[in-house]
Amino acid sequence: MSYEQVSFWHASADEDWTPRPPLPGDLDVDVAVVGAGYTGLWTAYYLAESDPTLSVAVLESEVAGFGASGRNGGWCSALFPAELPALSALADRESALAQHAAMRATVDEVARVAAAEGIDAHVAKGGTIRLARGPAQLARARAEVDEARHWGRDADDLRLLDAEGAGRIVRAEGVAGATYTPDCAAIHPARLVRGLARAAERRGVTIHEHTRVTGIAPREVRTDRGTVRATTVVRATEGFTAQLPGQRRTSIPVYSLVIATEPLPAVTWDEIGLARRETFSDFRHLIVYGQRTADDRIVFGGRGAPYHAGSRIDPAFDRDDVVFARILAGLVDLFPVLRGVRVTHAWGGPLGVPRDWCASVGLDPSTGLAWAGGYVGDGVATTNLAGRTLRDLILGRDTGLTRLPWVNHRSPRWEPEPLRWLGVNAARLAFAAADREEALTRRPSLLARAVAPLVS
Ligand SMILES: Cc1cc2nc3c(=O)[nH]c(=O)nc-3n(C[C@H](O)[C@H](O)[C@H](O)COP(=O)(O)OP(=O)(O)OC[C@H]3O[C@@H](n4cnc5c(N)ncnc54)[C@H](O)[C@@H]3O)c2cc1C
Repeated sequence: MSYEQVSFWHASADEDWTPRPPLPGDLDVDVAVVGAGYTGLWTAYYLAESDPTLSVAVLESEVAGFGASGRNGGWCSALFPAELPALSALADRESALAQHAAMRATVDEVARVAAAEGIDAHVAKGGTIRLARGPAQLARARAEVDEARHWGRDADDLRLLDAEGAGRIVRAEGVAGATYTPDCAAIHPARLVRGLARAAERRGVTIHEHTRVTGIAPREVRTDRGTVRATTVVRATEGFTAQLPGQRRTSIPVYSLVIATEPLPAVTWDEIGLARRETFSDFRHLIVYGQRTADDRIVFGGRGAPYHAGSRIDPAFDRDDVVFARILAGLVDLFPVLRGVRVTHAWGGPLGVPRDWCASVGLDPSTGLAWAGGYVGDGVATTNLAGRTLRDLILGRDTGLTRLPWVNHRSPRWEPEPLRWLGVNAARLAFAAADREEALTRRPSLLARAVAPLVS
């Protein structure tokens, strides 16, 4: 399969996907970055910007933007996978809120750099509307807003909408209310990651594509093309991390699958809404996410694909017709006007999930080993925060970013197989069953409540 065929975003990025030259042989640099997704590239970009004398090499097994960064749902949002109570438990209430504020600011930082670097990433900051469809979902929406208020988050951060208020933004079926936050921009993910790669190169970073890393050790990266010695080595492999030696239980690859419709005519958009390209979701248990693209399609994705034993990754897992059919049915259920719509692209990819659902970024100065990842599907903005944080850690700066609670957090390791396979797939099936149950009974599912503590 050619790189254009990886996803709708790859096909519409206006890119020549010819790989950059691989690593020519052994190399000495200040910083070696493994993985050319947003994490690796933001880190390289900010490092080169702050200290142009540093030599920074990025090593990528495929091409920049091949992974989740090129093929995601395009929500550049302030969502962070661990919620405020969990962050507070790592540090304190104030630090947890500082992390939340940093995430909100990060959405604007991504847009700022895209504009400054001339990256046409189709950025539209319309916020996110999360629909409550039925009483069980409405109860969760209310609880989320109550919890936000408890943390001092005001209506400019997150607010509850009634059915009429929701309908002013988007007209979907069976909506009882919604939450709305302004802190999300719809973006074209592949345009962002490819533009970022070029921006990093303009600042002196070298990207070696088709260069597979086979091992990471203190001050050393082994690849199929040679060995790179570096003062600092950054692991930025996210959903692919379990494939690296010694990392099998660090995080698991969970597949998220996505479809793109044909461009929809203006009359259909008059019915649906999303005039400011607000990203959208609802309060079901098995996450779904959607955006109106700049060329008037709907890109809609969701979890629910199986977890593969041994944390295996295979391009074949990116495509699952049963899951695609379920995602399309979910979209038509939301917007019946889309019955019969043509799906032009369908794809998927792995994202990284740590055992405690808490993303982390860090550096061990004694070994020079740094990492960032475990974003659980909330990585588009979080990777930017990670990149700026890694810059500060690597340059030895003590800043507000390096004191956030996720810095140097170590998630517990995942259980060995087959426990991992059993647990992850059982939770996935339980959440799907809970959604079906709630649609029928219209009451909050006890099953979902029982399973939730096992997966966080
Ligand atoms: C389908 C899907 C939808 C998503 N939707 C959203 C969304 O709407 N909003 C959001 O915030 N997040 C979303 N995410 C998550 C988000 O895309 C990721 O968190 C983010 O892109 C992670 O960036 P990264 O650079 O850490 O990882 P990646 O982009 O996955 O980059 C890792 C890179 O490492 C390379 N690599 C792996 N192993 C090696 C090796 N051995 N040697 C060399 N290179 C290697 C890979 O080829 C890859 O290019 C989604 C993810 C998926 C899969």
